[in-house]
Amino acid sequence: ATPTALMVGTGRGAQFGVLFKGPEVLEATHRIDTVVLDKTGTLTSGEMSVGEIVCAGGESEEDVLAVAAALESGSEHPIARAITDAGRDRVGDLPTADGFINMPGEGVTGRVRVPGPNAEAAVMVDVIVGRPDALAARGMALDGHLRGAFDDLESGGGTVVAVGWGGAARGVIAVTDTVKPTSADALRGLSRLGLHTVLLTGDNERAARSVADAVRIDDVIAGVLPAGKVDVITRLQGEGRVVAMVGDGVNDAPALAQADLGIAMGTGTDVAIEAADVTVVRGDLRLVGDAIRLGRRTLNTIK
Ligand code: ADP
Ligand code: MG
Repeated sequence: ATPTALMVGTGRGAQFGVLFKGPEVLEATHRIDTVVLDKTGTLTSGEMSVGEIVCAGGESEEDVLAVAAALESGSEHPIARAITDAGRDRVGDLPTADGFINMPGEGVTGRVRVPGPNAEAAVMVDVIVGRPDALAARGMALDGHLRGAFDDLESGGGTVVAVGWGGAARGVIAVTDTVKPTSADALRGLSRLGLHTVLLTGDNERAARSVADAVRIDDVIAGVLPAGKVDVITRLQGEGRVVAMVGDGVNDAPALAQADLGIAMGTGTDVAIEAADVTVVRGDLRLVGDAIRLGRRTLNTIK
């Protein structure tokens, strides 16, 4: 295609909400044969809400929620926002927290003032909220009761996080998300273009499957840590695939950069938008197929 044709193509994209970083990006766009999609915030709304809370003997739901919410107020993850909002709603003022550390794809840690038998007994302790294996690695493995509750809640198709402090797991919190109304349509569009689709997520297999079944995705790769997302892209490229990656989170940025075409949700984080070659406005996934169709038209591979 001539430089003029590429310029016209990117201009047309901008009109319908597909923002290419430069005209040359269209060259990569028309060669794509595989589309890898992140789950939370990409296929789903990412506006999560807290569901059931189950706690260890001796704890109250309010305390587990309050301590988790205090820590999560330092994070911008959709799980964190859901827990913080629920905490403020149900408990009011949250306990003091400091030393917040984000562990991408695993959870968060820091110190929170946990309730004691009376106000004077409250002390700052190390807290972790996240995947059970992240708690186990810090000597706070879930006991049989919490493990059972965790598995039950996950089987319901939700995302479940564990909360631990003072050397023990204290509870689990289920968080639910909804598939975007446009996602099923978007995936139909991608398969009509003959594209192979893959769901790639840090979330658990069951939650991933329930989303994949709702929108019809060819493959599911779940439970992947942020660093592992890049490896999946590299592996697919090694198999000869030309890969577009669609994501919204900080944890997606390396994979967006590695992909032949990185596509960020306009509703996503700045880090993702910077790492990507294309941004779709309003986080409308249907624009991903539109972008690829525009690339093919511009490069004359379809009429
Ligand atoms: P996705 O790939 O779907 O965007 P992430 O990689 O962001 O998911 O997160 C993967 C998993 O890591 C979550 O399902 C959760 O178990 C855990 N996790 C990540 N961030 C947090 C957080 N702020 N609080 C609790 N758990 C978290
Ligand atoms: Mg995400």
